[in-house]
Amino acid sequence: MTKNVLLLPGDGIGPEVIAEAVKVLDHLRESYGLDIDTQYADIGGIAYENHGMPYPPETHKKAVAADAILLGAVGGPQWEALDYDLRPERGLLSIRAELDLYANLRPAVTFEELAGASSLKHELVAGLDIMIVRELTGGIYFGEPRGHQTLDDGERQSYNTMVYSESEIERIMHNAFQIAEKRNKRVCSVDKANVLQVSELWREVAIRVSAEYPSVSLSHMYVDNAVMQLIREPKQFDVIVTGNLFGDILSDAAAMLTGSIGMLPSASLDANGKGMYEPVHGSAPDIAGKNIANPIATILSAAMMLRYTLGFSEYADKIENAVKKVLAEGIGTGDLKAIVKTQVTTQEMGDSIVKTIV
Ligand code: NAD
Repeated sequence: MTKNVLLLPGDGIGPEVIAEAVKVLDHLRESYGLDIDTQYADIGGIAYENHGMPYPPETHKKAVAADAILLGAVGGPQWEALDYDLRPERGLLSIRAELDLYANLRPAVTFEELAGASSLKHELVAGLDIMIVRELTGGIYFGEPRGHQTLDDGERQSYNTMVYSESEIERIMHNAFQIAEKRNKRVCSVDKANVLQVSELWREVAIRVSAEYPSVSLSHMYVDNAVMQLIREPKQFDVIVTGNLFGDILSDAAAMLTGSIGMLPSASLDANGKGMYEPVHGSAPDIAGKNIANPIATILSAAMMLRYTLGFSEYADKIENAVKKVLAEGIGTGDLKAIVKTQVTTQEMGDSIVKTIV
């Protein structure tokens, strides 16, 4: 059955990078029979301009109806003075909350040719392929009570609550184990069970869920050690599963192992595997409209969408292999100029990937 993909180009370089992902998807449709339909909607600053709000009901309706969503980026200086609820970034938070996209997937993959762009030694990162699965809608960022108070002696105090219920832990664990089944079959659950009660429950549930996935091995690591190990020997990891706060920090650290921000895809999934896929980078207003942005993060996000939500892994492989080959030929956008032989525009990068797909 034809799958419906909603495209949300957004602001800044968003429309430019989405156009290249669409070029790749269209090619797969026309030449290889990929069975998807696409439609567009507004989100972010452009939605504010056209509809007076960053996540309009029309967009929500289409998002609910779609099988998967591919987003460019939102934001820009022209909207920074707006009220909080009207700002472009609010559109992003709204769609994640409305669709209950609680599982954030952030792969950290080093392409051989780009290993030199990492801040770590080549041999530590060459061949790196980690998937960080971060719980996105719970934990300390949302826990209650939270706030500020003034104590009797006049001193001010602030507090947040790290809280996870069993069902929240269970569902993110299922995501992690199911992803590991499709990869190297190892899950490392990161917590702080030596000092946090919430981590004790996290660990207990991880062990319980792991029994349902006999082909996948489970290990545990305290978050402080996990940060050290990511820098010391990152290739020891396959899938890392962790809560919102620890995942926020670990996924950015892992991203930096791989080089440019223009290369990093991500996904946010709901309980049924429906998801929104987007590059990790923002709308890059400094380079918008110049045809120089790197579209690979968005093209790889489209590949993730095909693999993880739409069940078209063979097409995802085609895209990922083409990206690898193009980079191996020394072709890259300006952000990679220190390591590529031939510098190309955003559109030329999309064309090169399309031409290389087999
Ligand atoms: P940014 O990621 O947009 O840009 C940071 C730097 O990386 C810039 O120098 C930019 O030119 C460069 N860069 C980013 N993507 C690139 C690409 N594909 N190719 C080449 N270079 C690239 O972050 P920022 O400057 O902090 O934020 C700009 C705007 O984006 C803000 O309005 C912010 O709120 C928004 N933002 C949106 C998202 C999102 O939509 N998911 C994420 C982060 C920031």
